[in-house]
Amino acid sequence: MYDVLIIGAGPGGIYSAYELMKLAPDLRVLVVDAGHALEKRHCPIDGVKVKSCVNCASCSIMQGFGGAGAFSDGKYNITNDFGGTLYEYIGREKALELMRYVDEINMAHGGAGTKMYTTAGSHLKKVCMQNHLQLLNASVRHLGTDINYVVLKNLYGEMKDRVDFRFDTKIQKLARTPEGCYRAEFEGGSEEARQCIISVGRSGSSWMQRVCTELQIPTKSNRVDLGVRVELPAEIFSSITDELYESKIVYRTRKFEDNVRTFCMNPRGIVVNENTNGIITVNGHSFEDESRKTENTNFALLVSKHFSEPFNDSNSYGESIARLSNMLGGGVIVQRFGDLERGRRSTVKRIQECTVHPTLRATPGDLSLVLPKRILDGIIEMIYALDRIAPGTANDDTLLYGVEVKFYNMEVEISERLETKYPGLFVIGDGSGVTHSLSHASASGVFVAREIAGKN
Ligand SMILES: Cc1cc2nc3c(=O)[nH]c(=O)nc-3n(C[C@H](O)[C@H](O)[C@H](O)COP(=O)(O)OP(=O)(O)OC[C@H]3O[C@@H](n4cnc5c(N)ncnc54)[C@H](O)[C@@H]3O)c2cc1C
Repeated sequence: MYDVLIIGAGPGGIYSAYELMKLAPDLRVLVVDAGHALEKRHCPIDGVKVKSCVNCASCSIMQGFGGAGAFSDGKYNITNDFGGTLYEYIGREKALELMRYVDEINMAHGGAGTKMYTTAGSHLKKVCMQNHLQLLNASVRHLGTDINYVVLKNLYGEMKDRVDFRFDTKIQKLARTPEGCYRAEFEGGSEEARQCIISVGRSGSSWMQRVCTELQIPTKSNRVDLGVRVELPAEIFSSITDELYESKIVYRTRKFEDNVRTFCMNPRGIVVNENTNGIITVNGHSFEDESRKTENTNFALLVSKHFSEPFNDSNSYGESIARLSNMLGGGVIVQRFGDLERGRRSTVKRIQECTVHPTLRATPGDLSLVLPKRILDGIIEMIYALDRIAPGTANDDTLLYGVEVKFYNMEVEISERLETKYPGLFVIGDGSGVTHSLSHASASGVFVAREIAGKN
């Protein structure tokens, strides 16, 4: 019998285990993850021998120690303006305090020396306003994919002898015992604990849904973000990225009054494939290491789609659009902005002649055959709006990769303690639908650990 069982070793699970180890060292804690230990996580797609997803038993990009964040760009945004709504549960000040605390842990485990950027006092705020754009407030710690890995490795090193870890173990069923404890069943066995923290992230969303149905925990799901990843010469965005690194800029379209926003900016980074349940979408990375920097900057432009009655499966809608791009392009599609504007597909020749050299090998095609008109119109409007603050954005050779989809987990009904209606059963991180980022997921982990230790 464990005192605390943590399901999922992503940022939510890691920081709850870390805080429990510090605050309540006498508690027996077990962390179980469906994916591999950190050093064993390798995606077989190398672009040469293996070009597309081979559906591994566990996806090394999304699962294992470090969760979906392990090979991410490691951008920890300290803000309540985006990245989740944790503040609605625990309060704005508390949420920020915990995000800063997570930053301190990261600095103590290999992150020292990385840069913290902030929008506070930035003249770009005014420039954005003057051009119908809104720059959201944030401080961002950029670890980079490489340092992020080092931090995870060091955290594991510190915890491994004081917390039990079990990898390659997918929890199949979670049950509440007559004694009010929690029993997690997996292939070949089960474990019981007095309290349970579920932190299964995006990859565990359908499992989470099943648990909620079985335990009759209410949920709701009505949002998906759709759009493209933009890639252009780094110089065009350097006045913004040099100062802020990552900026979240929102534009309200004139035509439909939809909000389009920038997301996950990667100065001098690379565009990458992302695999969600076998569907290939696009994402981006960047590195702290100078030798791995490229000549391009990339970022996503996303439009949120909210649905109302009778439709309530927003993620399936996003998946269907992504599947369409996979059907037409065999994976991700790339198109020059000039080709999109002229209503023609990009071809291999046009991409070869392009002055922007793509960092991801994608199929030249036509995104207007994939994305709904309203979303595409909004993206085009925003590219012109960005062109006013970063001239050159609306260049013909700017590359658009599609589709980028940001899936949201359904929201699980939890209290201000992040606890379900069952005492001792907590749901945190992206799997709760409350957070959508490294910093918020990590902060939710610390919060719940302190609740369990009685130290909040
Ligand atoms: C490519 C990429 C780049 C990103 N970049 C950034 C960034 O720069 N900044 C940012 O803020 N966010 C970024 N994100 C998002 C960020 O990674 C997530 O918000 C964060 O990892 C969520 O943490 P989590 O602990 O809630 O879930 P996750 O990190 O998803 O971890 C969940 C874990 O639970 C495990 N699991 C799931 N189901 C089960 C089960 N049934 N049994 C056992 N284990 C299970 C999974 O194997 C996984 O390891 C990025 C995401 C991706 C994919």
